[in-house]
Amino acid sequence: MTIGVLALQGDFAAHCEALKRLGVAARQVRSSTDLDGIDGLIIPGGESTTMLKLLQDEGMFESLQAFGSAKPIFGTCAGAILLAKNVTSPEQPSLKLVDIDVERNAYGRQIDSRVVMLDGKVEAVFIRAPIIRRVGDRARILLRYNGDPVLVQDGLHLVSTFHPELTANLSIHQMFVDKVAQLTSRKNSPPAGPAKDHDESPSVGSRKEPSSPKS
Ligand code: GLN
Repeated sequence: MTIGVLALQGDFAAHCEALKRLGVAARQVRSSTDLDGIDGLIIPGGESTTMLKLLQDEGMFESLQAFGSAKPIFGTCAGAILLAKNVTSPEQPSLKLVDIDVERNAYGRQIDSRVVMLDGKVEAVFIRAPIIRRVGDRARILLRYNGDPVLVQDGLHLVSTFHPELTANLSIHQMFVDKVAQLTSRKNSPPAGPAKDHDESPSVGSRKEPSSPKS
């Protein structure tokens, strides 16, 4: 199993490190051909407008949409903005793979970033984060902060408005890796199940730290 990390801009290196700590092979994705043969993709945080422009320049917008119609994508912060159905503040095009609407930079300039504890167990770093203003009926809200959804699963895909790659707890990455592994093993062992599913609720934040060094 190999998981790609979109590496056009943003904090892709931290995601590669998190995957490495989980013992998962990571590949930096910079072109459409880099998507060939990977089983899932992470779109990191950064600046969604810049990433969008680079995606369009590289001709990757459509190939990412095609990839996401069959394989899981995990978007964090700017990644969540790129995956959303509708983006405001200001409006911009998006991949429309996840049935959420987001408002960019919605926590305001006064509080550009903050670290909070979610659900008593997940430390969450927010950096100029969007707020998810609408969640589609088929999507599941896995974590909230101040009443707003901050971790949402929609079919194959996962989005967080915070940065799990910047904290020691690997439970959110583990959740995504488990999803990719589940689909990859299904594909490799007939009879194959459907690609889309609404499986059991993943448990958030319960993963123990690995014994390997932290950095
Ligand atoms: N504010 C950024 C945007 O709107 C997202 C910030 C982030 O990814 N940490 O694209």
